[in-house]
Amino acid sequence: MSEKDKMITRRDALRNIAVVVGSVATTTMMGVGVADAGSMPKAAVQYQDTPKGKDHCSVCAQFIAPHSCKVVAGNISPNGWCVAFVPKSA
Ligand code: SF4
Repeated sequence: MSEKDKMITRRDALRNIAVVVGSVATTTMMGVGVADAGSMPKAAVQYQDTPKGKDHCSVCAQFIAPHSCKVVAGNISPNGWCVAFVPKSA
């Protein structure tokens, strides 16, 4: 391997490390809850801040504690409800 090839290899390795570090930093800054939160408008799923009978967000499989949802965008109340409700399996 020539000296020029070693330089390219070293340069490529440094570039790859920079990409990995950047990706980890971006993921960490976004946070798990924000990255997984949904984008559906509340009105589209008839979201309400109150339970529907015994069904409510904190017992829904889509809920991300403390105030997010995998389906619906925005701040979600643990006591809310929408038509996308799916009960958590026991
Ligand atoms: S009931 Fe609707 S808003 Fe609440 S967590 Fe489930 S899918 Fe999200």
